Amino acid sequence: MSELTKFTIAQLQKKLAAKECSAVEVTKAYLKRAVDLNATLNAYVTFCEDEALAKAAQADQDLAAGKATPLAGIPIGVKDLYCTKNIKTTACSKILENFVPPYESTVTENLWAAGALPLGKINMDEFAMGSTNLYSAFGPVINPLKRSDDDAQLVPGGSSGGSAAAVAADLCAAALGSDTGGSIRQPAAFNGIVGIKPTYGRCSRWGMIAYASSLDQAGPLTKDVTDAALILNAICGYDAKDSTSAQIDVPDFTADLNKGVAGLKIGIPKSYQMDGMEPAILESWENAAKLLEKQGAELVEVELPLTHYGAPAYYIISTAEASANLARYDGVKYGLRVHEQGDSLDDMYAKTRAVGFGEEVKSRIMVGTYVLSSGYYDAYYKKAQKVRRLIAEDFDKAFKQVDLLLTPTTPNAAFGVNDKLSTIELYYNDIFTVPANLAGLPALSLPAGLNKDNLPLGVQIMAPRFAETKIFQAARHLEREIAFDHSKLNYRV
Ligand code: GLN
Repeated sequence: MSELTKFTIAQLQKKLAAKECSAVEVTKAYLKRAVDLNATLNAYVTFCEDEALAKAAQADQDLAAGKATPLAGIPIGVKDLYCTKNIKTTACSKILENFVPPYESTVTENLWAAGALPLGKINMDEFAMGSTNLYSAFGPVINPLKRSDDDAQLVPGGSSGGSAAAVAADLCAAALGSDTGGSIRQPAAFNGIVGIKPTYGRCSRWGMIAYASSLDQAGPLTKDVTDAALILNAICGYDAKDSTSAQIDVPDFTADLNKGVAGLKIGIPKSYQMDGMEPAILESWENAAKLLEKQGAELVEVELPLTHYGAPAYYIISTAEASANLARYDGVKYGLRVHEQGDSLDDMYAKTRAVGFGEEVKSRIMVGTYVLSSGYYDAYYKKAQKVRRLIAEDFDKAFKQVDLLLTPTTPNAAFGVNDKLSTIELYYNDIFTVPANLAGLPALSLPAGLNKDNLPLGVQIMAPRFAETKIFQAARHLEREIAFDHSKLNYRV
């Protein structure tokens, strides 16, 4: 039965339709594997066994009655950032340790309406702040992959590191992540899987615990490109409950998967080549470009001169927004309250936040408060917003010449849990992913090569706003041509 966890969504759909297996069987196989391996990987923080099996039984009935919806019986892991009605939702913070939302996020509601079911809630960096999953209040997630020559535990990336680890280790058919500065794409790259951040506004943010609202986007992490398109089909759409939700039709993202790339113009931004990058990253990037060219795509060198200002601007804007968003956790309205006899209201605020937030979250709230304070607002926040605008304009210019951009996803492969990277080194992990968030663009990462330690490396494809279908067209072509061999990876589970 355990082989049921190996299949992609597209394969499972066929098997379920042909009655080769039932949704309940698939769900049980996933639950067993996920529960068994949690001691090793710590990918899940909550399991939803009853909910999952009830929805699986319903899916089986619908399948039998010929009324199946597109994702009927597909088991999903949900990043613990999405509010799930009557199911604990913590953002992996102590401050929300016991928070049970009375409502469902739009994105998860869309998934369940499409017939998918929740296996459980998935570990993440606290409030989605991080690139390692070391900042979860519930302990780190361990990457299911290891280097070829040592057993050291590696980070799965972050903040959707639990989602990526769960997909890579077959602990769910697909997972929901969120991407504010790269949190879907960087973990996808570190785990040898696919992840896409759609255009800002494609997915509703309603019921998604906010980190930086002008950057946050929902998206899937999946075993392959087709599955990413299938999940995106289900979760996107206008939602009146989110004022930044885009009132634009959602196309069928699978429509052009087999169209090939002849005639597409692919931009190669040289500014994504940085000193000190592993040679294997440049090689897999060049190889991907050649594979597109071989089938008739045209490669065009483009200028994106402000790429390197993306990370500094991002860490000003995102912390500023976080400091405002996280002001709501005050011990009054949600979650934890620390209040001792005789304490004033201010004492309660201070104690609750001191105990409830982790170090990284506190440091970001302080940076964000600082850059918004009078006297520093112009010097930092306003300047960062100008840089953001200029970066978006550079992309607009580039997309006058090309259909898509091809870049590496990250400047390095997964690193060790005990490697002790500095904060600045960690922040620079996002250098290639944050520009898409700042400009609101869709961007996908897929596995494209291996480094010297046999760890996976990703390439990223970016498109103009709302041109996800073109991303899928090129990504599916690349996936076929690269034929990434997962059996070369060293799985610890
Ligand atoms: N690593 C980035 C950060 O720490 C991105 C996080 C995200 O996309 N949620 O902010």
